[in-house]
Amino acid sequence: MEKETDFIFTKRIRCTVCDQTFGARTIKSGSLRRLGADFDLRPRFRYVDALKYEVYSCPFCGYSAMSRYFENLTKTQKNLVRENISSRFTSTSDQPPETIDYKTAILRFKLALHNSEVKRARLSEMAYTCLKISWLYRSYLEELQEHPDDSVQKEELEKAKEAYYKKAYEAFKEVIATEDFPICGMDTNTMDYLLAALACHFKEFSYASKAVSNILSSQTADRRIKDKALELKEAVVEGLKKEDANA
Ligand SMILES: [Zn+2]
Repeated sequence: MEKETDFIFTKRIRCTVCDQTFGARTIKSGSLRRLGADFDLRPRFRYVDALKYEVYSCPFCGYSAMSRYFENLTKTQKNLVRENISSRFTSTSDQPPETIDYKTAILRFKLALHNSEVKRARLSEMAYTCLKISWLYRSYLEELQEHPDDSVQKEELEKAKEAYYKKAYEAFKEVIATEDFPICGMDTNTMDYLLAALACHFKEFSYASKAVSNILSSQTADRRIKDKALELKEAVVEGLKKEDANA
């Protein structure tokens, strides 16, 4: 029987803000088996949810960010983190936890989001972090379905999941008009698809419809993303019909 610990190792990371090294629990990417994705591209993995391990958090100064954003801070950004995070941070144990559960992962991502605000990161970084927080809530709720825990308020988790999802959606809509592609590693077609999926969720079917048409008429979109867009189109058409009926 595979254990989560089989898929992770401790990576030594040098903190770009305080220059100390710490151990970060990291996924052994070679061991990871992808099981496909949810309708909004949230990746699924066998045995371990890699998403939980995507934030590096320095136990000495509190600087935290998704690994892809952890390095490459400007001098000004480092100072902003030192002044607004590190000065108030009490260093914690540098012994990383054996594994990261959803509750801890969500806290780490929220810390990363707070850091991104403090360091005045690009809006795409904040949008992406919010999206991942929402995805973590989704998985946490699924886990609670399987292993109920009466001490947890599910309605609160549900509300938070929606709130971060909405933040991500609103921010990504703005990001595509202000930043250059690739954005968060996504090309225009992938971003159109993500936005279409999010718009569908929030019942903004005209927006979704436009994003889906962009993909279907795109010269650069591959078969896979076009097929996904076609699937989504059915839901969009249904949604638009209902809107018309209610108008
Ligand atoms: Zn540090």
